Amino acid sequence: MVTTSSVRALSDVRLPSGEQADILIEDGIVTAVGPGLAADRADVVHGARRLVLPGFVDGHMHLDKTLTGLPWMPHRAGPERASRIETERRMRAELPPVAPRAARLVADCVGHGTTAMRSHVDVDDAIGLSHVAALLAVREAAAAHVDLQLVAFPQSGVLNRPGVRSLLDAAIAAGCDLLGGIDPVAIDGDLDGQLDVLFAIAERRGVGLDIHLHDPGAAGMAEIAGVVERTRVHGMAGHVTVSHGFCLGAADDSDLERLAASMAEAGVALVTHGGGASPMPPVKRLRERGVTVFAGNDDIRDPWSPLGTGDMLERAMLIAWRGGYRTDADLAVALDVATTSGAQGLGLPRHGPRVGSRADLVLVDAETPAEAVARRPGRALVLKGGRVVARDGALTEPLVLA
Ligand SMILES: [Zn+2]
Repeated sequence: MVTTSSVRALSDVRLPSGEQADILIEDGIVTAVGPGLAADRADVVHGARRLVLPGFVDGHMHLDKTLTGLPWMPHRAGPERASRIETERRMRAELPPVAPRAARLVADCVGHGTTAMRSHVDVDDAIGLSHVAALLAVREAAAAHVDLQLVAFPQSGVLNRPGVRSLLDAAIAAGCDLLGGIDPVAIDGDLDGQLDVLFAIAERRGVGLDIHLHDPGAAGMAEIAGVVERTRVHGMAGHVTVSHGFCLGAADDSDLERLAASMAEAGVALVTHGGGASPMPPVKRLRERGVTVFAGNDDIRDPWSPLGTGDMLERAMLIAWRGGYRTDADLAVALDVATTSGAQGLGLPRHGPRVGSRADLVLVDAETPAEAVARRPGRALVLKGGRVVARDGALTEPLVLA
């Protein structure tokens, strides 16, 4: 049951443009923005001149992996991808159930102002669809708090693990929103084989794709080209995302221009967490070439990395830091990839403090979007579809798993 309270008027907020205004909301949609609109209303929530931002969109994360909320565990895996995969598979047996851990992280993220997220969920020959079932339950429990898209994710590989292609198909039938993939060259040793399997399932099931591509250099560029070509052939423009695409961060000018133009033309988006120890794709240049670029936290304290809190303002700051952003305009780009472009990348309706947009809003103590990214103030209020879902970092109503 939804018991979070609805807001029909927000008074005295500061818009991202700097103007003071009131915001009226009906049925979860912003119906008016301007000065003095809420003056005579009794059902008003006072904004206290705080800055109002669009709800944050975490476009790439792994709810089922998180160790958030558990006693601290030192990082165990080696630096190689294979070591992380094997370490994680060994650790699963000693961890508490997936659903409560994931729900705890969702609550943290909503408290930080995230109103939409895309989580990959492991599907493999050891766990089958058990993590999918857990995250489907979390999605239902959190439906009033956050839009949660689930990507059936073959973390350990597709072709190299018996039965995984059938499990991926079953995961979509069970309710996952998108199909994932991972490094066809490095993990499966078969670029065309993995991509052909994934696109065939996606087309038959009518879902989008979001494929992890970490491979550097020529292998990574060939993988992006393979994704772009199949997106064209299958008519899936706007429904395919490359996660990471680290090779774009180290590509020379001509390769980058070629790949950026092909991604924009085919409607293939890119989601980045800022690169970490790998090169970060050039966010501003890709945007200028017409590629939809959005942001995600990726690992949030899990067997792959001990770092992260789920805060998308922190992620925007890290992207700005990696990108060498200093001007207000550049810091606004970092915020945009964590908000408006994120909604576009996830195919969600327009949201934010504009007439006609869904009232997914966050109030923070800052004067401008640039200051919010730089200083990362606390989140005073989070609205999801016009409902108050969090105040001062805590949910107004707890998530209850069935
Ligand atoms: Zn990931």
